[in-house]
Amino acid sequence: MRIYSEQQELTDVICNMCNKHLKVKDGMLLEECSNIEQHFGYFSKKDGMIEKFDLCEECYDAFVKQFQLPAEQEETKEYL
Ligand SMILES: [Zn+2]
Repeated sequence: MRIYSEQQELTDVICNMCNKHLKVKDGMLLEECSNIEQHFGYFSKKDGMIEKFDLCEECYDAFVKQFQLPAEQEETKEYL
């Protein structure tokens, strides 16, 4: 979950799974975080809905460990 000030500056990021507050300074997120934004389309029962959530790295790892098939991995060529 992301919280913004009235000036639209990022002020807080909270992991939706464990409720941990991640480090944010001067509008910048300073920790790894997965920001998921799912736009549900025509074939969904939630057609037209958008759901958003954030996961800290520990919760991301716990989530992915539940998969029957492992997540695909590759090395990035550029660091953001
Ligand atoms: Zn978490």
